[in-house]
Amino acid sequence: MYCPRCDKPLVPSAWDDLDGASPYRAQLSAAFDRMRCNECRGSWVPVQSVGALVQSIAEPMVGREKAQLVARRFDADTEAMDVAESLKIRCPRCRAPMDKLRSRVRFLVLYDRCGACRGMWFDEGELPRIVSALHTSALNTLDGS
Ligand SMILES: [Zn+2]
Ligand SMILES: [Zn+2]
Repeated sequence: MYCPRCDKPLVPSAWDDLDGASPYRAQLSAAFDRMRCNECRGSWVPVQSVGALVQSIAEPMVGREKAQLVARRFDADTEAMDVAESLKIRCPRCRAPMDKLRSRVRFLVLYDRCGACRGMWFDEGELPRIVSALHTSALNTLDGS
């Protein structure tokens, strides 16, 4: 697989270079394969939705039920941005155009998702932002909000 931004080969990568992900490293590594571009430091994660990512990380913190709630909130808030087809990056796995998605609840989170295989691409900085956003969300769930 090659980087959708700079065409360099993607390399398998653990999650230990993500500061924001440090409390979840073991879980993330066990649950999701990640490929990284050493040039632009973007990440490819073959996961269906940010909700799925959120759920697997939040579950040990707040239990399955609340983690599912947090995940559903994340997914329900995700919308595709209006991006010209020619500006869309191509999925490193299947070459289909990727949608630029954003989430507006509390945090602005941007990432790209393949419309065909549903894999996700995170530019540098996007993944740690999501991990810290979901950490806050999970903690808010504990408070009963
Ligand atoms: Zn790259
Ligand atoms: Zn794809």
